[in-house]
Amino acid sequence: MRIADVDVMDLKKKYGTPLYIYDIDHLKKNMDGYLNYFKSNDFDTEVLYASKAFSVKEVLRIAKEKGMSLDCVSLGELYTAKKVEFDFSKIYFHGNNKTREELEFAIGNNVGIIVVDNFMELEAIEDIANNKKKNVNIIIRINSGVSAHTHKFIVTSHIDSKFGVLYKSEEYNKMLELIANSNFIKFKGFHSHIGSQIFDLEAFRAALVKLIGYAKDFSEPLILNIGGGFGVRYTSEDSPIPFDVVSQTLINTAHEELAKENLKIQKLCIEPGRSIVAECGYTLYEIGYIKKTPNKMYYFIDGGMTDNIRPALYQAKYDADIIGKENEPKVNKVTVAGKCCESGDLIIEDIMLPEAKSGDLLITYTTGAYGYSMSSNYNKALTPAVVFVEGGKDKLAVKRQTLDELLEREI
Ligand SMILES: *Cc1c(COP(=O)(O)O)cnc(C)c1O
Repeated sequence: MRIADVDVMDLKKKYGTPLYIYDIDHLKKNMDGYLNYFKSNDFDTEVLYASKAFSVKEVLRIAKEKGMSLDCVSLGELYTAKKVEFDFSKIYFHGNNKTREELEFAIGNNVGIIVVDNFMELEAIEDIANNKKKNVNIIIRINSGVSAHTHKFIVTSHIDSKFGVLYKSEEYNKMLELIANSNFIKFKGFHSHIGSQIFDLEAFRAALVKLIGYAKDFSEPLILNIGGGFGVRYTSEDSPIPFDVVSQTLINTAHEELAKENLKIQKLCIEPGRSIVAECGYTLYEIGYIKKTPNKMYYFIDGGMTDNIRPALYQAKYDADIIGKENEPKVNKVTVAGKCCESGDLIIEDIMLPEAKSGDLLITYTTGAYGYSMSSNYNKALTPAVVFVEGGKDKLAVKRQTLDELLEREI
């Protein structure tokens, strides 16, 4: 098997397993796709990479080179961006409980926009802005009431979500009052993020229509940011909407709705994370032992929930192959299990795979988002290396953690 024209066996020899592999040809194509299709003649557009999906310096360098903007949610993510000299004016800073330290860092580094979640956060920003005598651009995170989970969406739910404020709620009104009386806080618009791994474009359209409705209250053209959450293909059960369709549907919806309302906006933003990196990512494991129980057959791999928590956390499904046996008959119904002391440490349950032996390599697909970024050292597992492959060449992006690094901070 080859990824971006690099032999996976060679990667195993060079970097060991478990190993995160990213197809950078594919990643760049995804970034370009959004950048090329998410455009309008009527207003500015901005495509933000939601860095929480996979935030390492090397991927941020690519995002920067491509001209993407960035969504950061923590001091760590901001600091990573700073380290690659990402233009802070192109960063939107998110989070429902940003600390004083995080806000000071963001404002001190002239972050483009702070996406404010609640009134108390706005008070903290006001205080910092006053102290620094510095203008701070903010948009308000709105809970639009549109809530989407994978294939379904509901319009009037989640009014008690931890994220955002409801339009014209007491919290919202207090925020607008503070803004009106502030010398340094500049209100720029609204943000809404309705969920993740969503396949129903109607959900995004519904959220966008709501934000446009709220923008009518303001005379100046606003920035509307409709978040991310575009679904990807984990297994053959998923049929994601191509990014050109997603982009153009949203742009067209905005055009129609703005024309209907006779309204102008300054800018429309999207924040794809998963749909940029997920399908570019693969995880390579070595099969250790194989075990039969009365009703099951296990292929044990040298990683597991420490490098991919999603199956345990969300019952997420994945597809896999045995390297070199991609075309062999899939004769065994197996469960691919990790090495942690948890019964839930299963990467794939009941998948048909060919006969395997110890030492074979198993590859899982679509692990590029929320794999590495959610990895842990549970059971003192070492974080795998991350390798980028592009046009027949490989390049280490993150070194494998060593045992000494694992204990580095322990006294
Ligand atoms: C998680 C998140 C995203 C990205 O979601 P994906 O499903 O990875 O596209 C974008 N914006 C906000 C505010 C988020 O919380």
